[in-house]
Amino acid sequence: MLQQLRDAGVEGRDGAADPRQAVTDASRALAAAGQSDMIWGHVSVRDPAGRGAWVKASPWGLEEVTPERVLLVGADGAVLEGEGPRHIEYPIHTCIYESRPDVGCVVHTHAKYATAFASLDVPLRPISHEGALFAPPDIARFHLTGDLIDTVELGVALAESLGDRNAVLVSGHGIVTVGADPAAAVMAAVLLDRACWMQLQLEAAGGPRRWSSDEEAVAKRSSVWSGRQLAGGWQYLLRRAAPR
Ligand SMILES: [Zn+2]
Repeated sequence: MLQQLRDAGVEGRDGAADPRQAVTDASRALAAAGQSDMIWGHVSVRDPAGRGAWVKASPWGLEEVTPERVLLVGADGAVLEGEGPRHIEYPIHTCIYESRPDVGCVVHTHAKYATAFASLDVPLRPISHEGALFAPPDIARFHLTGDLIDTVELGVALAESLGDRNAVLVSGHGIVTVGADPAAAVMAAVLLDRACWMQLQLEAAGGPRRWSSDEEAVAKRSSVWSGRQLAGGWQYLLRRAAPR
């Protein structure tokens, strides 16, 4: 995990990977990409020592996150480090870390185009580069509730809907994306919303007629969305998020 964070360019000021700084960078990158919803939506990184999830305190918007506003939340919801109230939807993060050892970063936002697209209940097509990161097969969906995911039971059910995928549409609510590091998880959130935006335009215009074959879409995950490409997009978002 530490090495993954270093590879993604997420390092504390002393050069060591710092979960608080990683959450700050990821939060601000999401805000720079337009995924802030006032104080709602959150991104976490896995605690390197296995104690839970590092996630912002609830009163702050994504663009307002600083390392001092990031908490360590345990699997039972206890705040183990940091100051301030935690988000009640912490099980989104802790339950996914429990079920997915490969995941080092979890994003939950109310990305507006993806949320609107989820209501159509039509397959997500790889119409553009963005969609190819998620389909085929069709993107995962969580239909159990559109209400808050505020219990361990709901967190476990969400993790089951996600399965081994990189994203899940949460009907009536938003999205959850995951990755080995913030670069992968944040870029997945940004690209998913763009893919949904594009298909929404086409559905309103009579529906898409052409999209990548399954073979081409899968190939694009190595060509268009290689780790290097995702890291490049992530670094761009960090530059946009940086104070001027
Ligand atoms: Zn939410």
